[in-house]
Amino acid sequence: MWRVRRNTAVESLSIPFALPDIGPDEIAAVVDTLRSGWITSGPKVRQFEDNFQRFIGDGVECVAVNSATAGLHLALEACGVQAGDEVIVPTHTFAATAEVVRYIGGDVAFADIDPTTYCIDPKSIERCVTPRTRAIIPVHFGGFVCDMDAILEIAERFNLAVIEDAAHAFPSKYRDKLVGTLPSDATVFSFHATKFLTTGEGGMLVTKDSAIAQRARVMRTHGIDRDAFSRTTAVSHWRYEVIAPGFKYNMTDIAAALGISQLARTNGMLARRKALAHRYHAGLGGLPLVLPPSPADGAHSWHLYVVQLTEDAPLTRDQALTALYDEGIECSVHYIPLHVQPYWRDRYKLSPEQFPNSLRLSESSISLPLYTRMTDADQDYVIDALRRLLRT
Ligand SMILES: *Cc1c(COP(=O)(O)O)cnc(C)c1O
Repeated sequence: MWRVRRNTAVESLSIPFALPDIGPDEIAAVVDTLRSGWITSGPKVRQFEDNFQRFIGDGVECVAVNSATAGLHLALEACGVQAGDEVIVPTHTFAATAEVVRYIGGDVAFADIDPTTYCIDPKSIERCVTPRTRAIIPVHFGGFVCDMDAILEIAERFNLAVIEDAAHAFPSKYRDKLVGTLPSDATVFSFHATKFLTTGEGGMLVTKDSAIAQRARVMRTHGIDRDAFSRTTAVSHWRYEVIAPGFKYNMTDIAAALGISQLARTNGMLARRKALAHRYHAGLGGLPLVLPPSPADGAHSWHLYVVQLTEDAPLTRDQALTALYDEGIECSVHYIPLHVQPYWRDRYKLSPEQFPNSLRLSESSISLPLYTRMTDADQDYVIDALRRLLRT
């Protein structure tokens, strides 16, 4: 997440893992906001929510927040998940997906992933269900959408809420429908600096359930309910009512100005990511690598391009990461799974082998650099390095 200082010998060749795509429109929009006299939540946040709602379509409501982590927390709270409840989360995810369950005093039940899609395995979800289970948080890993038909069927059978962690999945589709329009309870996107669309830090909670949207709006600003007054009184601009101990999760207009400009560039940014993914597919053929799954309809955000080293590779994964780094290529690993992280391992007495698919991926995978400003020459440099290092 933080840029690493590289040794100067390779500085001129360095390929970062990710790079935000901030152009003149974004810079002008932010400057305009700074000059406007209104920099925290105001007209730009409303406009960003409206534009996002129009982009996703299908009658959704959008609640802008200052991170996806905040959005996931608000979604769980709005779905009525409480202390003592259990929430099913894939172990193969970022810290945020699970920590929000602990924010509200719930417990996490970890599920393994499918070895081919790297997304939560519905069979593993079923094994996690207990009488205390209240919700599932599937993660669309890398931008590949989970088996939502199976997940929604399980949720219906056991009366569970479904909150999609779509931090990677803007703008991914599932059976021709944009993520955000599927029949889950809520979907949360991230606009963190490394994500497809960025506001620096930020997120969007999307839902078709207006009660969830309303509760999230109130809880995002200290539990302050202004709508009650605006409906009933004419002179209300100064009056408010605190109906719950809410949170401080509102997005600023500075961030929203960035988001409005980025959203307008979605199609172009998606086309570049797709082109880069296809160039990796073509350039990395024949190496001891498992290439990432591609949905048949091509509806993938290509947030991540994750390859797995096969057993006949001449280098271990860790050696390959070091060798690439020495060539000035910054890669990453998604993820070191939560079940081996000290907090979760100790809390639930988990062992690494309990989630074999996640463990294997975490030990064999490399996330390659992928960002819209990556040139064909940048990418060829990465491909050439991999072909040299992995020649058998
Ligand atoms: C980035 C990320 C988050 C958290 O997003 P923030 O906007 O940084 O809070 C949650 N889940 C996954 C899978 C992520 O990659």
